[in-house]
Amino acid sequence: MIEKTSPSQGDDKGVLHVEQRYSRQLKVAQIGPAGQKRLAAAGAIIVGVGGLGSFVASILAKAGIGRLTLVDFDVVEESNLHRQNGYVESDIGQPKLEAFARYLRAANHNVALTLQEQHYDQTLLASDPDALVIDCTDNFPVKYQINADCQAAGRDHLFATCAANSGQLLAAAADHGPCLECAFPPQPVADLGLAKNIGTNPAIVATTGSLEAGMALKWLSNPEAMVTGQLVTIDAWRFDFSKLTVPRRSACLQHQGVHHG
Ligand SMILES: [Zn+2]
Repeated sequence: MIEKTSPSQGDDKGVLHVEQRYSRQLKVAQIGPAGQKRLAAAGAIIVGVGGLGSFVASILAKAGIGRLTLVDFDVVEESNLHRQNGYVESDIGQPKLEAFARYLRAANHNVALTLQEQHYDQTLLASDPDALVIDCTDNFPVKYQINADCQAAGRDHLFATCAANSGQLLAAAADHGPCLECAFPPQPVADLGLAKNIGTNPAIVATTGSLEAGMALKWLSNPEAMVTGQLVTIDAWRFDFSKLTVPRRSACLQHQGVHHG
């Protein structure tokens, strides 16, 4: 199912109060009116609107991104409510996209929403060729597929994952620097303790999702300032934050014979 909605021209009174609505972030020197304008002209494809995606989509929509494509196939379950943003008890049993779109439209009707109720598929990338791809899935095979597709198609993308008390993030540029496989070669993933069954502290979801949204906000509003290729690791129990520069591995299969101009 594909559902598209275009933003109305302004609010019910026919006026888009850009300066009022975004007044606090317009005062942030690194964003400012120029960054706000870029954000309003930008798009993001958010794969998964569960824990991470519900925070990323919420923040970007409220901040005034121009276009959001949301990809998910799940329904809202009672066990989602402790950590996923925007879902309420009356949403249980409903498709996540339907429930989340209702929340986003109420939050900021100026955002053009495209809803793709399906599993991730590389053809999704072509649906908005200029959009930043944001991986908010909880599935490592899909994460590697997104990474491979973005590297092959020359698309920038954001990776994030979290489980238990720990989260990791990486901004992967299409044409330089490391990708997800440079940071986490595929074989050892089973040993990383990232399996779903170790549970999830709701605070790590909010923290990791908010930081992923923050990376998107920076990349889309002030791309010259964006630094990619750093693996950010956070712990929401010990309250540790760390950042390390990941080298582009020459042995990484994603860079064998692949050159982007
Ligand atoms: Zn790589």
